[in-house]
Amino acid sequence: MGIYVVLQPGYFRCLNISRENMTMIAPRVYVTPQMPATMRDSLLYYLKQAQQRIIGFFGSQQANPIIIAGHDLWAIRYFGAVQARTGMTHLAPTGAYIVLAPEGINADVLAHELCHAELMARVGWWNRTFQVPAWFDEGLAMLLDNRFPNAETEWQAITQNGQYAPPLAELTTNRSFFSNPHHLYLNYLTARHEVEQWYSVHRQRGLQLLCKCLADGHSFHQCYKRPHH
Ligand SMILES: [Zn+2]
Repeated sequence: MGIYVVLQPGYFRCLNISRENMTMIAPRVYVTPQMPATMRDSLLYYLKQAQQRIIGFFGSQQANPIIIAGHDLWAIRYFGAVQARTGMTHLAPTGAYIVLAPEGINADVLAHELCHAELMARVGWWNRTFQVPAWFDEGLAMLLDNRFPNAETEWQAITQNGQYAPPLAELTTNRSFFSNPHHLYLNYLTARHEVEQWYSVHRQRGLQLLCKCLADGHSFHQCYKRPHH
């Protein structure tokens, strides 16, 4: 789920994916040669489901990321990052590269990572990197990720209805969002809560307008209309 602005060695391996010993099972989808056929089929099946979620949410899919999946943890460590476990995405000027461990081969993780790729495709690498706060990027991805069905109830309980929620201003940079593992889950819940409130008011049209506003080079502050709590 992590986002890295500083490009990692894994990114450069993704760039040269055609020269790595990986098998292409569909356009822009690569797997380790040892991956069993059932796992390959699952990947393509869940990828389709995740793409449907993106289309339902954004109205269409504009991103065209490369998907790289491993039958064990080797691929995510080699193409992703040493500490990555489930799934991660390199968001680079050259495009998005989604790297998955076996645990990440499901519709939730794929939709989550595709959402990061989709937002970047719509607003541009530069604007995503320098304008979109981490809480918005993660909150949006959480809305397509059904791994945490009790997220809202948990957020209400942990923060006592928001009273003790971390301020969004403290979740703006990747560093502040991801650096403390003890706060990470609450950060995700808080981001999700905010963006869910926002989306419930502005819906798909509002999301498209926000993307357009950012793509036009306006600041996030100018483009995002905070929901009233
Ligand atoms: Zn994420």
